[in-house]
Amino acid sequence: MGDLSSARSTLRRKKERGQYTKEVIYSILDEALICHVGYLNADGPVVLPMVYARMEDKLYLHGAVGNHMLRSVADGLDVCVTITLIDGLVLARSAFHHSVNYRSVVLFGQPDVVADLGEKRDASVALVEQLCPGRGTDARVPSDTELKKILMLRLPIEEGSAKIRTGDPIDDDDDIALDIWAGVIPTTLSRKTPIPSADLRSTIPSPPYLDFLIDQ
Ligand SMILES: Cc1cc2nc3c(=O)[nH]c(=O)nc-3n(C[C@H](O)[C@H](O)[C@H](O)COP(=O)(O)OP(=O)(O)OC[C@H]3O[C@@H](n4cnc5c(N)ncnc54)[C@H](O)[C@@H]3O)c2cc1C
Repeated sequence: MGDLSSARSTLRRKKERGQYTKEVIYSILDEALICHVGYLNADGPVVLPMVYARMEDKLYLHGAVGNHMLRSVADGLDVCVTITLIDGLVLARSAFHHSVNYRSVVLFGQPDVVADLGEKRDASVALVEQLCPGRGTDARVPSDTELKKILMLRLPIEEGSAKIRTGDPIDDDDDIALDIWAGVIPTTLSRKTPIPSADLRSTIPSPPYLDFLIDQ
């Protein structure tokens, strides 16, 4: 698979934690739920959280046609998109060496506007699927009228990096002799038992793709 490294996407600190293959970067993109999109507006830098979806080598962002950020960057402005998964809290003996186990991705590029309604529809379904696998083909597909109310941007995934920290705390040799517990608290993003909407008809059962969340 391709390599997304560039001068600005190459790690300078902890280089050994860097990975640049699409395989690694896509695995993180496909697992996470939200990204943070950074851009430079007239007043300075702004970073906003958004949902996203990946389809092949493109990352899709969407919002209302009046969305300030999406409108600002739609004309070929650079964006920086960051995605983070937290895998553990790393408790070292010293306060100094506390850390986090993580898998993160930083992408750079210039998004463009998706005008084609078919691609917009596919990306809208992918955005739903990213949040809840199985839901994309269950939810009513957006109508043309709805799609025209959406500003959909497409960022080519061509330049970026993944950075991954795993494992134990890295204490100084002198600190390892201290009588202080050290280790990792594993963390996951958990989904809990779904709560039916208050206006859901009682005859409608929970869909099969939510079965794994029932009574777990
Ligand atoms: C988990 C998550 C997912 C989201 N997904 C989407 C998405 O897919 N599409 C979408 O359009 N929007 C999404 N939002 C909302 C998004 O963050 C923006 O608020 C929205 O896109 C409006 O952008 P704008 O540039 O028009 O904001 P403006 O209202 O023009 O922003 C003006 C100022 O308001 C403040 N502001 C804006 N957004 C936020 C925020 N989220 N939190 C705190 N302060 C803020 C900032 O100071 C910003 O400079 C999401 C938010 C969250 C938390």
